[in-house]
Amino acid sequence: MPLTRRAALAAAAGGVGLVVADQRPSAATTPFYVNPFTLGVASGEPTPDGFVIWTRLAPRPLTSDGTGGVGTRRFTVDWQVSRRSDFATIERKGSVRTSKSGGHAVHVTLTGLEPGREYWYRFRVGKWLSSVGRAVTAPRLDAAVTALTVAQLSCANWQNGWFTVYRRAAEQQPDFLVHLGDFIYESAGQDTGPRAHVGAECVTLADYRRRYAQYRTDPDLQFAQASAPFVAVYDDHEVDNDWAANSPSTPFADFASRRRKALRAWYENHPVRTFSRPAADGSVRAYRRVFWGKLLTAHVLDTRQYRSDQVGNGAITEDPARLDPTRTMLGATQEGWLQQNLQGSTARWDLIAQQVMLTQRRVEVGGTRGWSADAWDGYVPARQRLLAATAAARNAVFLSGDSHAAWANLIQADFEIPDSPTVGVELSNTSVASGGDGFDGDGTHPFMAANPNLRFYNSLRGFHLLRFTPGELVADYRCVATVTTPGDTDWTRARFVVADGQPGLDQTLDQPSAPTSPTQRRAPRDLATATLKAEGLL
Ligand code: FE
Ligand code: CA
Repeated sequence: MPLTRRAALAAAAGGVGLVVADQRPSAATTPFYVNPFTLGVASGEPTPDGFVIWTRLAPRPLTSDGTGGVGTRRFTVDWQVSRRSDFATIERKGSVRTSKSGGHAVHVTLTGLEPGREYWYRFRVGKWLSSVGRAVTAPRLDAAVTALTVAQLSCANWQNGWFTVYRRAAEQQPDFLVHLGDFIYESAGQDTGPRAHVGAECVTLADYRRRYAQYRTDPDLQFAQASAPFVAVYDDHEVDNDWAANSPSTPFADFASRRRKALRAWYENHPVRTFSRPAADGSVRAYRRVFWGKLLTAHVLDTRQYRSDQVGNGAITEDPARLDPTRTMLGATQEGWLQQNLQGSTARWDLIAQQVMLTQRRVEVGGTRGWSADAWDGYVPARQRLLAATAAARNAVFLSGDSHAAWANLIQADFEIPDSPTVGVELSNTSVASGGDGFDGDGTHPFMAANPNLRFYNSLRGFHLLRFTPGELVADYRCVATVTTPGDTDWTRARFVVADGQPGLDQTLDQPSAPTSPTQRRAPRDLATATLKAEGLL
């Protein structure tokens, strides 16, 4: 009897009943004596006829050589895709040979499947079976889709807390999840938090591979990754804090080489398409689109690999260089690609999924005043070009992460002109774990006085649940009380409605935690200073 979706999800997470591992010593042909599927499974990149499925062999995930205990050995990994969670019938199957040069990862791009359908997949090496993952194909391009649910999240610093938010996001059963970067942090292990990174700051390929392996041992992350497709893109910490094209934020001898290794490990450790495989020069093609019938087109951007170096010291700046029109955030090729796509878009909703805050945010704290040099405020003409391109969109919804706090922002046609019309909204999500527990508040922030376009602020950990219909977008800002203790429940802290054709934010729910709740930790007395410190700007 087929499992229900919910039961199968639970089984996929716990492995109950679906993982068959023969550990008898007589299983002489078994190449591993311990389960090589310690990192779970994942799917991504849904299209109307397929998706990518992923796993990586790592019987001992934390070995310092980054090979997960596999070394230089090569294995044949079998895979299966079924319409049934019990695999009673097999839709597709095949084998992939792993290699050390490929990080012992498996990427399979499925094509020729049916649109708008649920599929199940699993892998096998010898007698070891992986857990079961669930993937979906996107609807046909011309389908009149009536509903789409997307989970939006980013910034999961292992050292700052448990990954409860991943599990809570998956429990909402989104069609797919968008991860806006900082999937790993490159920093050295520290014993000050609830759990610590293994190893020093990531620099070598082995370092980055081991760091991904450590993160991917997390059961909450594995639950989320097995539950639905991810659409993931990196931000800075997959490589180095605040990197910009070929420039690290702090001097590094051969940054080009480090970046090449980091992006290679990124590719190896995500269910992304072959076109994202590192090119000969080490660059990675990460910007891409996801189509969901006539309802939505997601434009996933890369704001790291092609950008001009940050102006000033990279923190808060008043340097007029931020107004230099020759500076770029996306690079000319990506910018042209996006412009063309937006101009030709017939989607009801255009979702621009990218990393850093788009809205204007002037800050003045003590002697520090100006704009964040790492965000779009440091690239003003480039932002203006982006906004001009989005004018062609019927409904422009911008996503960002990076700041480790939730914001809801209005996007003006030209921030330099007072009373400029609102042309879109920005939903900027808080982190999965980075920054630790945070605190609840009343939704306001001192920066709002000088920036009326900022409409909501909250510093708890969480994710966004975006429910699109032809008539409206309902965005739930979901939070957990703590991440320093595992397993907290989540709730909708705030809800915003965006009506079709009417760019704006209608907050329809405001639900602070109960006064007796542990989430009512007091906000810092100087919230403005604390915010800049949390963002690494002071
Ligand atoms: Fe982050
Ligand atoms: Ca970041």
